Amino acid sequence: MHDAAGAEAPRPRVGVLALQGDVARHEAALEALGVEAVRVVTAPDLEGLAALVLPGGESTTMLTLVESGELREPLTRFLSAKPALGTCAGAILLGREAGGLPSPAFEILDVAIERNAYGRQIDSFHAELDVPAVGGRFPGVFIRAPRMRDIGPGVEVIARLSNGGDGAGEPVGVRSGHTVALCFHPELTADLRFYRWFLTEVAGLRLPAPETVTADGETPRSRGAA
Ligand code: GLN
Repeated sequence: MHDAAGAEAPRPRVGVLALQGDVARHEAALEALGVEAVRVVTAPDLEGLAALVLPGGESTTMLTLVESGELREPLTRFLSAKPALGTCAGAILLGREAGGLPSPAFEILDVAIERNAYGRQIDSFHAELDVPAVGGRFPGVFIRAPRMRDIGPGVEVIARLSNGGDGAGEPVGVRSGHTVALCFHPELTADLRFYRWFLTEVAGLRLPAPETVTADGETPRSRGAA
């Protein structure tokens, strides 16, 4: 990636909250698009990040570790100011009114979230989704997924369960400004369209040209080449 003067621009740095959960798959997806993925465990890790991914996992454990790691205040500041993508447990952290949490969620999104609303682990499922922002159909992977119950007026539905017809299926993804929350797991598919959309359209980042990114996400710059 070169800037107007022809110099190589630095790779955007995007964090993945790495307290617990499906961190590595998100990192791999980000790196495949030429972004530098940064594990966020302590507050200083947030410095200089262009955006943050909050992975799926177990929201109760994540919130416990947020409190014990003294991350609540720095994360609240980051999430208010910068783009974030929350999947599943990450979506629970971004919304409001999820039951059974050890401390309040961050309430960045005006959406009430019902945890484990499709049933237990054994009720996890795949379903086709309607996601117009990424060109239509998208594969949805749901693992002990939450449901979005009470979506506030300023919140846009960006993904729905496909009902095979009128595009008015149940909401499973929302966006409000620079914050996106999904009930499903794009990191468990090989389909990078969702990340590309989030990074470019929501976070406003410029990604390296695809031909300069190797399979492991390196660019000539990150390999140390001239
Ligand atoms: N059921 C989990 C929770 O409540 C979320 C599951 C997931 O992230 N896949 O945190």
